[in-house]
Amino acid sequence: MVRVTLLSYTMPLIGNDPRRLVVLGVKVSSGKLHERDWKHYLTTYPEHDVHQHVVSASKYPTLFEHIVFTFLIEDISRVCSHQLVRHRIASYVQESQRYSEGYVKRVIECLEHYGYKKLEEALNALNQDHSNVMNCLERGFVFPRTIRSNTIALKGYVEQLLKAVYIYRDLVSKGVPLEDSRYVLPQAVKTRIMMTVNLRELIHIACLRMRMEAQWEIREVVRQMIEEVKRVVPEIEELVNRMCSNKV
Ligand SMILES: Cc1cc2nc3c(=O)[nH]c(=O)nc-3n(C[C@H](O)[C@H](O)[C@H](O)COP(=O)(O)OP(=O)(O)OC[C@H]3O[C@@H](n4cnc5c(N)ncnc54)[C@H](O)[C@@H]3O)c2cc1C
Repeated sequence: MVRVTLLSYTMPLIGNDPRRLVVLGVKVSSGKLHERDWKHYLTTYPEHDVHQHVVSASKYPTLFEHIVFTFLIEDISRVCSHQLVRHRIASYVQESQRYSEGYVKRVIECLEHYGYKKLEEALNALNQDHSNVMNCLERGFVFPRTIRSNTIALKGYVEQLLKAVYIYRDLVSKGVPLEDSRYVLPQAVKTRIMMTVNLRELIHIACLRMRMEAQWEIREVVRQMIEEVKRVVPEIEELVNRMCSNKV
C-alpha cells in the first residue's frame, strides 16, 4: 500500500511556523514593515490573524510558493510514478532500475526462500496454496483492487507477474545489465520517489489528482500528502477547496 512521509518543510529561522512566511509576504506587499519589525510577524503576531491571512491568500497563490515540502513516497507502482513526475514544477529523485534491482530483488529473495527455483515450481505452488506466492509478489508489485477482487483476473495477473520475475532473474543471471533486464518488468512494479514541491504547486496537483476522474493510486498518494501537510498547514483542505473551485 502507498506510503507517504513528510520529510521536511520550510522553517523560518525565528518562530516555528512556516505559515507566517505567507503573513510576512502579505505585510511586505502592503508596506506594513514600515510600522512593525518583520520578527513580529514571524513570532508574536496573533494566531487568529495568521489563520485569516493564510485562508485569504488563496486569492494570491504566489504567496504559497514560499513554503516548500519534501516527501518520501514508497510502494507506488511505476504506473503511478509516471503520472506524478508529469508535474514538472516539483523536483524528484526516483529509485534507479539501472543500479538496483529494488523491489524485484525482494520478490526474488522471497520466492527463493520458499524454494521456488523455477517458474513451474512457483506456478505449482500457486495452484495448491497461493498465500506464499502472493506474499512474495506483494513485496514488489501493486495489486489493484479491481484485479484482487476478481478471481479469474487475479490468476492471470499473478501468472504474468511470475513470468516477468523469472525471465528478469534469468536475464540478470546471464549477464544482461539491469538497465536492459528491466525491459521485461511490468508497470505494476513498485518504486520509491522523493519529491520536493512548494505549497502552491501542491494545491494545484491536489486540484487535478484528487478529483474522481484521476487514477486511484495517484489520488491516494496526493490524499496522503495533504494529510501529512495538515500537521504544518491545518488550513490545507480549505485552501484546496477554495483554489480548486476557481480552477475547474
Ligand atoms: C485526470 C487526468 C488525466 C490525464 N490523462 C493524461 C493522458 O491521457 N495523457 C497525458 O499525456 N497526460 C495526461 N494527464 C497529465 C496532464 O496532461 C498533465 O501532464 C499533468 O496534469 C500536469 O499538468 P500541469 O499543467 O499541472 O503541470 P506541468 O506540466 O508541470 O506544468 C505546470 C504549469 O507550468 C506551466 N507550464 C509548464 N510547461 C509549460 C509550457 N511548455 N508552456 C507554457 N506553460 C507551461 C503551466 O502554467 C502549467 O500549469 C492527465 C492528468 C489528469 C489530472
